[in-house]
Amino acid sequence: MKHLWSPWRMEYIQDHTRASGCIFCEAWAGGEDERSLLVHRGQGAFVILNRFPYTSGHLMIVPVTHLPTLALTQAALTVLRQVYRPQAFNVGANIGELAGAGIADHVHLHVVPRWAGDTNFMATLAETRVLPEALDETYRRLRAAWPEPKAP
Ligand SMILES: [Zn+2]
Repeated sequence: MKHLWSPWRMEYIQDHTRASGCIFCEAWAGGEDERSLLVHRGQGAFVILNRFPYTSGHLMIVPVTHLPTLALTQAALTVLRQVYRPQAFNVGANIGELAGAGIADHVHLHVVPRWAGDTNFMATLAETRVLPEALDETYRRLRAAWPEPKAP
């Protein structure tokens, strides 16, 4: 297990806990874009800098609506919970080939169910995998469990 030492994260956690409401909703409603580091107001979503970046340019794309997850992602989590009963998920994107994107020209979110004792996330996305179920069986189970209508 590798650990990255990042003491500034504690400052972030404490700041966030102290805030009266949601930092994203406050930034959107506040109208002080430069102070909030809100870079761009789009339709339905906005772009805001992470105040405690992992790298330069670390930004976040945030839906205007205060939701814990994205709608289709939420549906996927619901179906996966129902079918596989995972204990947690990794949800994320690799943007560009250098970052590990297999299909770099069409952005996509990975949703990876996790169980205690399974391989770590990097191993999950690496070349070697051990899967206990054939893909067509996984397809059949998820397709059958997906709520109607099939389209978002
Ligand atoms: Zn919010």
